[in-house]
Amino acid sequence: MEKPLFPGENLLRAESLSLPASIAKRRRVSPFIRLFREHSGKLLCPSFWMLAWANGCPYHCSYCYLQGTFKGETDPIVFSNLKDMLREVSRWLAYPGETRLLNTGELCDSLAITDVVMKLLIPLFGRQSRHKLLLLTKSDRVDGLLKLPHNGQTIISFSLNPPEVSRLYEPDAPPPGKRLEAARKCVRAGYRLRIRVDPMIPVEGWRKAYSRLAEEIAELKPERVTLGCLRLYPSVKAFSQRSKAVFQYVSERTPDGRFRPPEKTRIEMYQLMLSKLQGLEVGICKELPSIHEALKPSPLCNCIP
Ligand code: SF4
Repeated sequence: MEKPLFPGENLLRAESLSLPASIAKRRRVSPFIRLFREHSGKLLCPSFWMLAWANGCPYHCSYCYLQGTFKGETDPIVFSNLKDMLREVSRWLAYPGETRLLNTGELCDSLAITDVVMKLLIPLFGRQSRHKLLLLTKSDRVDGLLKLPHNGQTIISFSLNPPEVSRLYEPDAPPPGKRLEAARKCVRAGYRLRIRVDPMIPVEGWRKAYSRLAEEIAELKPERVTLGCLRLYPSVKAFSQRSKAVFQYVSERTPDGRFRPPEKTRIEMYQLMLSKLQGLEVGICKELPSIHEALKPSPLCNCIP
């Protein structure tokens, strides 16, 4: 018999490698894994490992940076050579040094298109105890994950916004109440939980809306919360397919080239959340050093172990 190329390859059933017929697919030629670096050099974000198992997302949030990344072509496509992907992940997992984390939600939502790929990756990470798998999602498609042998090596990070924001700018994603319910299920199944509140958007009544969300997050007791405020590259504006109303909130251009709400508003939003989430580890994503200086959040964030 041919020697398996990664541990457990011979246990994989053919059907676990088949993607639903309704999904657009193609072979990936370039590597699936790469180290992502913040390009501008103006922010404090750490580098992180990302897995490109799919491109695009069916949720089409108005602010989504993928509109710029893929020049408006955000309809999802999944890479079909799953065995090649698993072999590459397996080689990545064999790294004997410090703990690393593999992010599956940078160029797509980790669960919005299908759960087939995460169902392969979660048990693979569960067979070792050094490196972590990160799912980042607005989906509530978690039922198929609850009984998997994750061995505490998978972190599921739910992206949340208050219903007042989600209704306007995330209309195709499951409502936040469903995401919260999915998060509770994952906690009951023993998964490590993180929450991302990003991008916060200063809609009318934002203080009340984000206060309520913070209370619900505090009840979940996630291991880490990552906050971010609305930020848009010019390319997102150029290729935006959805409601352009979200652009009304960005009025200044910061040295990293993004458009953002005024610094004063961002600080007020972060301060509100930091005060409501006291006792939890709370980091801030893709912000300027001046904001970190003013608020002194945790140096840890969603993208690192
Ligand atoms: S869920 Fe995430 S990846 Fe999908 S459209 Fe919204 S912001 Fe983009």
